[in-house]
Amino acid sequence: MSAIETHFQQVRDRIHTARKACGRADTVQLLAVSKTRPVALIREAWHAGQRDFGENYVQEGINKILALQDFEGICWHFIGSLQSNKTRTVAEHFHWVHSIDRFKIAQRLNEQRPDHQPPLNICLQVNISHEDAKSGIAPDEMITLAAKVLSLSNLKLRGLMAVPMPTNESAEQHTAFNAMADLLVKLQKRWPKQAFDTLSMGMSGDMEAAIKAGSTMVRIGTALFGVRDDS
Ligand SMILES: *Cc1c(COP(=O)(O)O)cnc(C)c1O
Repeated sequence: MSAIETHFQQVRDRIHTARKACGRADTVQLLAVSKTRPVALIREAWHAGQRDFGENYVQEGINKILALQDFEGICWHFIGSLQSNKTRTVAEHFHWVHSIDRFKIAQRLNEQRPDHQPPLNICLQVNISHEDAKSGIAPDEMITLAAKVLSLSNLKLRGLMAVPMPTNESAEQHTAFNAMADLLVKLQKRWPKQAFDTLSMGMSGDMEAAIKAGSTMVRIGTALFGVRDDS
C-alpha cells in the first residue's frame, strides 16, 4: 500500500470504529479536505477510491477541478468563506457549498447555477460555539435562513455544517456537536416532508465525538494528507 492508501485506510477504520462504538448502522461519508494539497496528491487519493474533496479557496479549487475534470465521479465541496464576487465560479463548478451563512450569497448562487446542472447542494454553516468573528449564523437564526434558502429552486438544502471551537476536552466537543444534532432535528420537524440528510461536522481531531453525535459527513485534511504548511 502507498502512504496515501494507508492514511485513507486508517481514517476509514477510525470512522468505522467510532460508528460501531455508538451502535450506528448508517454510513458516515468521508470528505477529504484537499486545500493546499497538490493535484498529484488528489489524483492518488482518487485512485485509492476517494471521490469527495473539499476546498476552501475559490481560485485554488477551480484550478484543481479543471485539472481533474476527467476523473469519474469526483465531487467537489466548497467549505471556505465565500465572497459575493466569487459566487459565479462556485455556482458553475462545485457540487456542494457547506458554508452558507448569508442569504445574499445563496441568492447569487441560485441565480448563477447553470440550468443544465442539477441543483447545488447546500449546508447552512452554524456558529455553534458562539465565537466572535467566526463564520456562521447564530443557532436561533437557522430556521429563518433555511426558509429563505428553501425558496430557491436551483439550490438543494441538505443540512447543517459547523466548525466548533477547537478543544481537546471531549465534554466540550460533545456539547457543540450535540447542539448541532438538536438543530438538525429542529430543521426536520419544521419541514417534515424535506429530507435533510446532512450534518457536516468532525475534523481530524474530533471526528469520533462528531460521529457519536450523529455527523453524516466528516471533513478530514490532516489525518489523510499530513500536517499543512500553513498550520
Ligand atoms: C481545513 C478544514 C478542515 C480539515 O481540518 P483538519 O483538521 O486538517 O482535518 C475541515 N473543515 C474546514 C471548514 C476546514 O477549513
